[in-house]
Amino acid sequence: MTTMVKPGAAEARAKGGDGRGMPLSGSKPNPFQIAQQQLDEAAAVLKLDPATHDLLRWPLRELHVTLPVKMDDGTTKIYHGFRVQYNDARGPTKGGIRFHPDETIDTVRALAAWMTWKTAVVNIPLGGGKGGVICNPKEMSPGELERLSRAYIRQVGRILGLEKDVPAPDVYTTPQIMAWMADEFAFMQGYNEFGVITGKPIALGGSAGRGDATARGGMYCVREAAKILDLDLKGAPTAIQGYGNAGTFAHKLGRDLLGLRVVAASDSRGGVYQADGLDYEQLMAHKERTGSVVGFPGTKAVSNEEILELDVPVLIPSALENVITEANAGKIKARVVAELANGPTTPEADQILHKNGVYVIPDFLCNAGGVTVSYFEMVQNAYGYYWEEEMVHERLDKKMTAAFHAVHQAAQTYKVHNRLGAYVVAIQRVAEAVKLRGWV
Ligand code: GLU
Repeated sequence: MTTMVKPGAAEARAKGGDGRGMPLSGSKPNPFQIAQQQLDEAAAVLKLDPATHDLLRWPLRELHVTLPVKMDDGTTKIYHGFRVQYNDARGPTKGGIRFHPDETIDTVRALAAWMTWKTAVVNIPLGGGKGGVICNPKEMSPGELERLSRAYIRQVGRILGLEKDVPAPDVYTTPQIMAWMADEFAFMQGYNEFGVITGKPIALGGSAGRGDATARGGMYCVREAAKILDLDLKGAPTAIQGYGNAGTFAHKLGRDLLGLRVVAASDSRGGVYQADGLDYEQLMAHKERTGSVVGFPGTKAVSNEEILELDVPVLIPSALENVITEANAGKIKARVVAELANGPTTPEADQILHKNGVYVIPDFLCNAGGVTVSYFEMVQNAYGYYWEEEMVHERLDKKMTAAFHAVHQAAQTYKVHNRLGAYVVAIQRVAEAVKLRGWV
């Protein structure tokens, strides 16, 4: 049921690929091809030696698993999942587990690559990894989700460990799912090892401040960007594409920390617009009641495409990959694009946004708050002593602010757009570790 394979070899061979796992292009942009293309651009800027460049283009290891799960109706359903350990030169691999119907191995590879650059850009002693299961949690009962989560750990647990690989939540996975996974892992080991998974509930060794950390880190970046651009954030109209964990907390913290006025929000079913601003508490209550922001009283409907093109100074893509592309980048009117999602912008769109003077806070910088507090959680689990929430916020702010300015500075020095600036900072750190270890 468990197979260790060379990255992509099986799929590539099946479709006549080169067996090296070259990502296969389909009709949709392939996120792993995009991740490789971004790295190639950074390698050129840095004049990276060819061996290091080639090494950093590929995951070091990946595991493909097949998971039989007993469903509530008595049938057994077979799920497929992955765990990719992209690079551990700087420390154990770290990164979330996504449950999503559109999950593919190449999405997981891309997300694992971005985790490697993310931990490097905020300078925490970890590598990058990611996991995923092809499933639709919205159609599963809590019991089915629990059995799937435990089945995943029974297969993947053998390559996890405090010093090996440490998962966390991602799209459609929650603290409850992390709790089931930590519990299953404890049974496999014969003792509790809470630090092997982060994003846990507080009662099981979670950290104060982990819940809103991704959005909070992003808001610290928006604050710093506004200083550079001399942009007044008080009352600044803001659009949030993706009203999930990161997006909802961006609404609340954008208001509380920066005074942003969120005028538009969308989720997978559609979006809403109200020029005077959307009330956070009421919109959350509506979403909890109906399952979507759609139909929130007193608002105009807006599509997921339209929301990106609104005339607002701050745009926060917080959902999935490839939403800002060559086709719509020229229509983006925001001054700051704060990417709480992973991979929302394609390389072609990056060039257009840069040319048009849009200040992009790139994903693996903007959303690094989540993994930074995950790292704090690992540290607290290791010494069994827990910090006050205030201390988590202070230390997160320090890390994010330092990373933001390192990236801004690199973009200025190398005269490149911010994403390339972030790559320059991250790749230099990973390349140094790779060289010191004697891998190249
Ligand atoms: N899934 C989150 C991310 O993409 C968090 C990862 C973590 O905390 O390890 O950054």
